This record gives sequence, C-alpha cells and structure tokens, in this order.
Amino acid sequence: MVKLSGKAVYKGVIIGPVAVLKKDEAQVKRTKITDADAEIVRLTQAGEQAQAQLQKLYDKAVREVGEASAAIFEVHQMMLEDDDYLDAIHNMIQTEMVNAEYAVAVTGDNFSEMFANMDDDYMKARAADVKDISNRLVRNLMGQEDVDLASMEPSIIVADDLSPSETVQMDKSKILAFVTVHGSTNSHTAILARMMNIPALIGVPMDLDEIHTGMKAVVDGFKGEVIFEPSEEICAEVEEKIREEKEKLKLLQTLKGKENVTPSGQKINIYANIGSVSDVGYVLENDAGGIGLFRSEFLYLGRDDFPTEEEQFQAYRQVVQTMAGKKVIIRTLDIGADKQVDYFNLGKEDNPALGYRAIRICLKQPDIFKTQLRALLRAAMYGNLSIMYPMIISVEEVKRIYEIVDEVKAELDEAQIPYKVPEQGIMIETPAAVMVSEELAQIVDFFSIGTNDLTQYTLALDRQNAKLDDFYDPHHPAVLRMIRLVTDNAHKYGKWSGICGELGADLELTEEFLRMGLDELSVAPSMVLRVRKAVREANV
Ligand code: PEP
Ligand code: MG
Repeated sequence: MVKLSGKAVYKGVIIGPVAVLKKDEAQVKRTKITDADAEIVRLTQAGEQAQAQLQKLYDKAVREVGEASAAIFEVHQMMLEDDDYLDAIHNMIQTEMVNAEYAVAVTGDNFSEMFANMDDDYMKARAADVKDISNRLVRNLMGQEDVDLASMEPSIIVADDLSPSETVQMDKSKILAFVTVHGSTNSHTAILARMMNIPALIGVPMDLDEIHTGMKAVVDGFKGEVIFEPSEEICAEVEEKIREEKEKLKLLQTLKGKENVTPSGQKINIYANIGSVSDVGYVLENDAGGIGLFRSEFLYLGRDDFPTEEEQFQAYRQVVQTMAGKKVIIRTLDIGADKQVDYFNLGKEDNPALGYRAIRICLKQPDIFKTQLRALLRAAMYGNLSIMYPMIISVEEVKRIYEIVDEVKAELDEAQIPYKVPEQGIMIETPAAVMVSEELAQIVDFFSIGTNDLTQYTLALDRQNAKLDDFYDPHHPAVLRMIRLVTDNAHKYGKWSGICGELGADLELTEEFLRMGLDELSVAPSMVLRVRKAVREANV
C-alpha cells in the first residue's frame, strides 16, 4: 500500500484500476536491407495508415471539442506529406540501405532538432509535432497498435501531465479520476475534472515506473490523497463513502427542473462555466439556466496557430444553438499570465499576472481581437449570446472596445455578412474596476465578477503560488465588500451583476450573495444543483 498526497482540484472519491499514460517512444533498431523499393512501399503503407488514424482522431475531436482544438491533427496530416521530410527518409533508405523504422526515427530526430533551434517561436513549436508524427510512423511500421485510450476499461488516469491533445483522445465515460505529477489548478485536466464531476489530484509526487496499469487505487479528492494497492479495510471505508456520495447525488437529481428560488421568494440565475464546445453536454445534464462564462481562450490553447474566424464562428454558433435560447456569455480571449500560447509570442515577463494579458492583448493587437469579434457578432444571430470582456480597469478601455466593435460592424456591413450586436458586459476582476464601477455601470450591460483574479489583485496574492495557500482568504471582507459595492452600482443603473469566479460556488456564502442581491452565479456544471439546493434552503 502506498499513500501519496497532492492538491485536490476537484472533490469526490473513487476506487478502481489505474491506467498509466506514459509518453514512451518505440525502441528502434538499425538493420541492413537489400530491397530499398520494398522498404519505401512499407513506408508508404505506414503513412497511409497514419493518415487514417489522424483522420479518426480529427473527426472525434471535432465532435467533442470543436474544430479549433481538432486542428492539430490536420497539421500532423499535412506534415506527413511534407516533401522535405519524406525525401530525407527515402534518401536515407536508398543510400544507407537501412530499414524504414530507422530512417524515420533518425529523420524525425534531425528535423525536430532543427526546428527546436530556430528563432521563430512558431517553427520551434513544430519540433514536438515532427517527433509525434515520426513516432506514429515508427509504431505503424513495427505493427504496434495506436495507443487506444478509447477501448480501455473505466480507469483512474495516472500521468505526468496531460495535454489537451491527450485528453481529447479519451472516451470520457472511461475516466474515473485524474492523478498527475504536474499541472495547476487552472490546468486543462483540472477544468475537465470539474466539468465531469470526477475527483482529480495534481502535484502528486509519484514515480511512474513504480505504478502499473491495472493496479488498484483509491482517489480521495476530499482528503487530497491517492492510495495505490489499498488494504481491505481502506477499500471498505471508501466503498461506504462512495455510497454516501451517490445518495447525496441522487437527492440532488430531484432538484432538476426546479426553480432557483428561496423560501421567501427571491430568485437568482444559476449558470455554468465551460471551456469548450463539448462541455455544453455537462451544462444541460446539470440543468443550468445558461452559460455564464465560456472561457473562449481554450479555443486558442493546445494548438499551433490562431483559430480562424470561421472555426470560432462554428464553435460559438454550435454552443448558442445547442443552448436553444438560453443565455450564453462568451468571454473574449484571456490569454497571458497562466495561459501561455507559443504562437502569441508574448515573451517572458517578471510579473505575468500583472502583465500583458487578456483585453490588453486585444487592445494592442486589434487584428486578433477583431477576428474573434467578427465570429461572435455573426454567431449572435443564432441564439441568446452575450459578450464579456476580461481584466477591465477603466472606462476608457470599454470606450475603445466599442470603437473596435463599430469598426467590425462596418466591415461586416461592407461585406454584407449578417450579424447582431449582442449584450456586452465586463468582468470585474481588478480593484480599479470596482472603484470605478459606478461609471462602468453606465456604459455596459452587465457585470460578472471574476473573484479568482479579484481576490489575487486585492489581497496581492499570486493565485498560482502554492506557498501562499495559507494567506489566500477568499472570504476576506475586502473581497466581499467589493462584491456588494459592484452589485449596488450595477443596480443603480438598472444593470445586472453576477459572479463567475470559483467563489460563486462557495455554499457558505450563498445566503450572503442572495442578501447582496446578486442576480446570477455561474459555477462549474457539477455545482449547479448544489447551489440550487443552497438557494432553495436559504434563510434570507
Ligand atoms: C476569475 O478570475 O474569477 C475568472 C472567472 O477568470 P479566470 O479564472 O479564467 O481567470
Ligand atoms: Mg480571471
């Protein structure tokens, strides 16, 4: 029995078999061949097989996470046809009379190193891709199966870290929990776990060579513990805990279709936060009244180049159409700080949380912003869409945003493309925005308070720094008074005010939020019914 601790990014408890995901590379031997043509035929067949595998991955990703995130598989398909790459492999087979596996592996390494040494960040990022496609070719040549995450039995996924392109390949119904060595609270894995309502631990100091697929384990997201090969006694305890949790969940299900209303008749909207198109399923499953925060930057993450206007339009349209008239608030991209993307070339900053991020990038690089705005205005024709701008600090910024929106409108008019200018609100995430919220309330349609950042900036505590956990008090009166002030100012001008940061799901504060008169709480889909329960029992 081995017990390890980590940081729980989502509560819940589970017992089950482990599936260890290792990024292992196939062992390739150099062998002499006599028939170069036959070797090239084998290579061509392996290439065709790879194209088919990538097509399958692409189709699955489009269905589950939208075209934007699926694009990486298309890039791999194109790289597989690259003349320079193929010529180098053919040449090595013919001149050195070596096996195709060896020629692919060596060429892959050479190209990868060449890309890694380039100055251009975009080209640098290709190094991992060329390695990826070379490994795929080698696996096919050796007759090894593509690691089929879809066909495994429901398991606790144990890994060093998980990239979006890895999680995309998993059949979500087969994932019992995530346990990773690395990752942060805001990592893709953490967000996915909250979305799926499964326990997840990050920062677990595991030696992946000691853990084997099929091993039994317990993940306790309440205690922040994982136990490999647990004793009978622990298993019995955990089974009991799981039964209790299931009972609680069953009771929660009875709240579906019920109103978010207190015994005294006060109503509040409970919406859900999402990061990708496929998360809409969780929103509907948990009966959220709408989407209060679609973190659109996830369309930009885990890929090598900007998503096009068309890709974004398709994603936004799909979400608003699926939500069928319910409100969908899409936040414009919030890249920077903890969400780094190579192709943005943001450069290293000493204080990234106080740095070039979110709306600042959009205002400085309006071309990027305009592409997203065009997609949003076009998608607004298809349902109840609202736009929300992050990290605002001043009235001037909002005015500048409106000028850019006007430019986008003129461009769309000129091109005779149908669009609608939807409701536009801002996130209140900075003390500056709080202090000028009276002025801001007069020019925006709504406020959504991002308590994750607002707490970090108000208390001067880096939200990424685990050493500061003991100082991080989201119930600090400074933060709570700010929420009240902002909400009062919104109401003064007939605007609504909500919370979309993690604090919105804090059940200890639900009554207080109702007393403050908040109009909306947007929470992880798995928290919607819990918050509804708290509202229906609130003594306000
Ligand atoms: C917040 O800051 O509270 C918020 C919702 O935005 P994010 O967590 O994506 O920074
Ligand atoms: Mg934020």
